[in-house]
Amino acid sequence: MAEIRITNLIKRFGDVYAVRDLNLTINDGEFLVLLGPSGCGKTTTLRSIAGLERQTEGDIFIGPRLVNDLRPGDRDIAMVFQFYALYPHLTAFDNIAFPLRAQRIPIPEIEQRVRAVAAQLRIEHLLNRRPRQLSGGEQQRVALGRAMVRRPQVFLMDEPLTNLDAALRADMRTELKHLQHELATTMVYVTHDQVEAMSMSHRIVVMNLGVLQQIGTPLDVYRRPATLFVAGFIGSPPMRLIDGELADDAFIDPSGIFRLKLNAPTVARIREHGATKLVFGIRPEEITIAQETPPDLIGIVALREPLGDETIYDLQIGTQLLQLRAAPTLRLNLGDQVPLKIDQQALRIFDRQSEQAIV
Ligand code: ATP
Repeated sequence: MAEIRITNLIKRFGDVYAVRDLNLTINDGEFLVLLGPSGCGKTTTLRSIAGLERQTEGDIFIGPRLVNDLRPGDRDIAMVFQFYALYPHLTAFDNIAFPLRAQRIPIPEIEQRVRAVAAQLRIEHLLNRRPRQLSGGEQQRVALGRAMVRRPQVFLMDEPLTNLDAALRADMRTELKHLQHELATTMVYVTHDQVEAMSMSHRIVVMNLGVLQQIGTPLDVYRRPATLFVAGFIGSPPMRLIDGELADDAFIDPSGIFRLKLNAPTVARIREHGATKLVFGIRPEEITIAQETPPDLIGIVALREPLGDETIYDLQIGTQLLQLRAAPTLRLNLGDQVPLKIDQQALRIFDRQSEQAIV
């Protein structure tokens, strides 16, 4: 187990900046997910920790050791990738035992460690099979076993569940989370799948274009996105974002039809910040049907999306659309005028220019 500390990490490929000035401390025993769209620099960050890439600038510490000049094999890490290359001619047992044999560990100890790991992964009954006699999920578990058996200080995983079908992915998510909890080993996990990130991690690092956008618990990044990018990236459906400005004590869009009165602390915060071009953000569950009059806004139902456990309504306000997440028992018809209440504690205001959150 070990803490990982990354300071001022820059990785350039020619004139492409894959990672720009990354500062990050991953706690001992933490499950940290690097999340972002394709090309945001998450794999490069992971490969730099592993020693598979040499950073252009900056330092990486694993525990107290500066590992900049250490080869991957000397960093006390284990990696699991999307394409887990098991040796096809070896049984599951021998695949898992492989790193221990390479370290010349005595045979009885190898036997005991492989069986212990197999029990943890519930694959004891598969140890005599070769990879082609195993399902995708079973192969993935063998690959995990091969990483675990070394008892590394750190696990690095790059989209390890991508090749599995949806049901198995969901199972493996739960298993990995339990496993990390049991082993209490520091885990850095790369994914572009926000459900994986939200459901498994202690903290999420959201990256875009090589830049760390936000680091926080899953609820932090969901409830308090620090930048417009995070606001639009996390959540399904994503936060609705509307451009506009402050007029007296209300947020208005360029047409003036979308007009929402803001509470006094929000107005004060925007004035204090000084930004004039603003972006208003709200999530579908932060809007409810108003019981009091006058409502905050009136929306016209433009689309109904029944999802079984809930229904998402698109509501038109002038040229803007908001979304409402409602119980399936609520029945609104296209064209209905709906009085809306906006949760003033939950709404977000961003500075259009800096793209940072103001409120
Ligand atoms: P993905 O989810 O698609 O794997 P990622 O977020 O992991 O994306 P990286 O693989 O870290 O992104 O790539 C970050 C940027 O660096 C991209 O613009 C990519 O094209 C570039 N890049 C990565 N590896 C190399 C390389 N070996 N040579 C040149 N450019 C590279």
